[in-house]
Amino acid sequence: MDNTLNQLKARLAEIADLFKASEVLGWDMQTYMPPGGGEARSEQIATLQKLGHEKFTQAEIGQWLEELKPTLERLDPDSDDAGILRVAARDYDRARKVPTELVAEIARTTSMAHEVWAKARAEKNFQAFLPMLEKIIELKRRVSACFGEQDSPYDPLLDDYEPGMKAAQVRAVFDELKRDLVPLVKAIAAKPEVDDSVLHKDYDEQKQWDFGEAVIKRFGYDFSRGRQDKSVHPFTTSFSSSDVRITTRLMRNFIPSALMGTLHECGHALYEQGVAPELSRTPLADGTSLGVHESQSRMWENLVGRSRGFWKYFYPQLQAVFPENLGKVDLDVFYKALNKVKPSLIRVEADEVTYNLHTLLRFELEVDLMEGRLKAKDLPAAWNAKVKEYLGLDVPDDSQGVLQDVHWSAGYIGYFPTYTLGNILSVQFFEKAVQAVPSIPADIEHGEFGGLLGWLRENIHRHGRKYTPNELIQRVTGSPLNAKPYLAYLKKKYQALYGIGDEELRHN
Ligand code: ZN
Repeated sequence: MDNTLNQLKARLAEIADLFKASEVLGWDMQTYMPPGGGEARSEQIATLQKLGHEKFTQAEIGQWLEELKPTLERLDPDSDDAGILRVAARDYDRARKVPTELVAEIARTTSMAHEVWAKARAEKNFQAFLPMLEKIIELKRRVSACFGEQDSPYDPLLDDYEPGMKAAQVRAVFDELKRDLVPLVKAIAAKPEVDDSVLHKDYDEQKQWDFGEAVIKRFGYDFSRGRQDKSVHPFTTSFSSSDVRITTRLMRNFIPSALMGTLHECGHALYEQGVAPELSRTPLADGTSLGVHESQSRMWENLVGRSRGFWKYFYPQLQAVFPENLGKVDLDVFYKALNKVKPSLIRVEADEVTYNLHTLLRFELEVDLMEGRLKAKDLPAAWNAKVKEYLGLDVPDDSQGVLQDVHWSAGYIGYFPTYTLGNILSVQFFEKAVQAVPSIPADIEHGEFGGLLGWLRENIHRHGRKYTPNELIQRVTGSPLNAKPYLAYLKKKYQALYGIGDEELRHN
């Protein structure tokens, strides 16, 4: 029996190597590869991924997993081997259920769809993208059908990003969030607009870069096991817990872009650097879900990096780096500018409060599409109505509306809710960390982050994928996914910033 387990683990290690090698090629493609290299590189990545997929879906792996079922019964459920067997069986099941031809058809369709979408967006012409979108939705419905009878056809798609979560669970939590967020956004929009011109001055790029790196070193990002580079879209990639890389994007006339982006990616990277080394080359060597991953990035970016305590420590240092821009600007002016809330049309430019309404409306539309209540051709009208209802804005054209995101053209349906799940979880986890280590808020004011990072390492990071998101949330916080702590955090912070009384949130 041990022999079968060892054989399985050796095979899984080789498979992990193939996928990680393709990620190295992907990292290079987005950072240093000359523009001419694209075509050959895409082939190289596709070949490695195909090899990995073929190796993983061989019937032999299924036989081993079957033979090892009694072993799994006997093992301590918290042991690494039990985790490996559970997760490998789940991955194997998913990989085998969707026929290879369907996977190939999705790959072909989405690679074509990208160009069609980009052109349609540039021309503000939804009709030009509609046939592709209809095709993608049809293909995703077929994927969903491979998993048999479900409460919602959305569930198997969501499961790809949040193993074990269901549309109904997410909807209930999001509905609660929406009930309180819409009035909060309305109340903020009714207040005088915050002047954030201080953020738009001319900031030397090298100095921005150096400052960001100095901050994340203090967070605990280990540069002997990581590095930062530039890319068009910031991202984090992990080749093993001893090589976790981040990228950022510098904007000369908007300092939060690189700085807050660096803190965000660092949050992802701390998670990956914190996965227990003994899990490397196993299916557990990764974050457990996109939502839990995003809880880490948003915790370091928002709960830490946009807090007043953080800036109490770092603002004098930032003033010293940019005396001409910030020397005469008070901490509170800077803090308020950095936390400016303003309903806007574009998700990626949205602030901490309104961001959730952007993802929430996409989630609702995706579920309606998958459950057949909404037709793709009616998406623009449905989108615009929700933007009006949640954000109070009119959408002037589809490039600033339904065509703005790349996700659907790439076939990513079920992805959007993970952003807001991350926000919700960031506060559930952070509150638990502060309960366990009460000095955390004071530590942050002194530029000390070891207590927070140590708690995250112990309770979340080291487990990798051993527990599903729902299991991890229950284990760490003692309760299920819950929007209340996050809502309370937003209200406390933004009612104070904007001088909004409780009675102003009660008119709906
Ligand atoms: Zn992220």
